[in-house]
Amino acid sequence: MPGALPLRQVGALDPSPYNVAVENQQCCDKQQQHAGQGRAAAALVTCVGVRDEAEGVKTFEFTVPHTHPAQKHLYAARQHATFVFPPDHFPGGGGTSGAPVQRSWTVSCHPDHTEHKRTFTVAIKKAGLVSSWMHDHVRPGQALRLQGFAGEGPFVVAPATSTSGGGDGGAPRAGEAGGVLLLAGGIGVTPLCPILQDLVNEVRRQPRAALPRRVAVVYAVRRAAQAALAGELHKLAEAARDVGVDVRLVLALTGGEGGSAPPASVALPQVGPRWTVVSGRPSVALLRQHVVEPMMGAGEAQLAGWRAYVCGPAGMVADADGVFAALGVPPENRHSDAFNF
Ligand SMILES: Cc1cc2nc3c(=O)[nH]c(=O)nc-3n(C[C@H](O)[C@H](O)[C@H](O)COP(=O)(O)OP(=O)(O)OC[C@H]3O[C@@H](n4cnc5c(N)ncnc54)[C@H](O)[C@@H]3O)c2cc1C
Repeated sequence: MPGALPLRQVGALDPSPYNVAVENQQCCDKQQQHAGQGRAAAALVTCVGVRDEAEGVKTFEFTVPHTHPAQKHLYAARQHATFVFPPDHFPGGGGTSGAPVQRSWTVSCHPDHTEHKRTFTVAIKKAGLVSSWMHDHVRPGQALRLQGFAGEGPFVVAPATSTSGGGDGGAPRAGEAGGVLLLAGGIGVTPLCPILQDLVNEVRRQPRAALPRRVAVVYAVRRAAQAALAGELHKLAEAARDVGVDVRLVLALTGGEGGSAPPASVALPQVGPRWTVVSGRPSVALLRQHVVEPMMGAGEAQLAGWRAYVCGPAGMVADADGVFAALGVPPENRHSDAFNF
């Protein structure tokens, strides 16, 4: 289908330059037998923290597995961590009968955080069997088995540690500019902090490079209380401003299914004052009013030369392609991840 956005592949680890990360860690129990043939062996990681992030969302922090000393980054911004559980771990299943159960959650912190702290975080929405088990049972001290990190890598800046054999997903090189539109729905917000941090780091590292200096984050949730990581994005927007990157934060409150949206004037002390709160789904009209006009000026109707990314439920991801097209983002500049199977 022309213009269709590719969905992220899961199941097997992608041939990413980042996927050589995990070394075996004496995985001698039956979980290892089910960890999959021909892939990096799973490794134990220990939970070191759990915090409430938003309504129905918790952030879990884990130690990183042992890695090769030369390996700087375990994963790239926008990649996910896949955990594997033995077949009989969950009463009632969770996967194909008799097979290990796998679930993937996007790493919500930047690879630099992991390099410095030797931990990584995932923000998980309580949704079904495994995510509910994580919410209800995983506490500091608990060890889980990490299959590895996978997924498409950055698209705003080229991967810093790219090795041969891995594509860069069309990432712009220094010398190109334009802006970046980051659109998230619900828990699809998790890749946005690492993506934004990537750009801030790169602009700080190369202040003269013609990297994008305008970023619009449009985050759709039903209710403000569900806005996970909004505070983190607010802090990142402040850090971006310090290096000359203008970040516009728009929280789109969509209300209940088919119901009326809440008033845009709702107070949001928890998400930070830089958020512009609006009502409605992120339509072309909404984005023109709250992104294009404030950032490009009323006479400029298009985001030509921008890159656009969407992460969220499949329906939203599919709709976003048409929205991006209507705003003038060329097909090769549209990127997406969907959190469903
Ligand atoms: C690339 C990617 C990144 C994601 N990032 C996040 C994130 O950051 N935060 C977040 O909350 N959620 C994220 N998800 C969704 C997450 O993987 C789970 O689907 C979600 O937590 C619900 O799982 P559950 O077991 O609780 O629900 P369930 O209702 O038990 O599972 C959901 C359905 O999907 C199937 N399913 C789920 N995972 C797999 C799998 N790995 N392989 C095969 N079938 C599967 C189940 O069989 C079931 O039909 C991501 C998904 C993908 C693909």
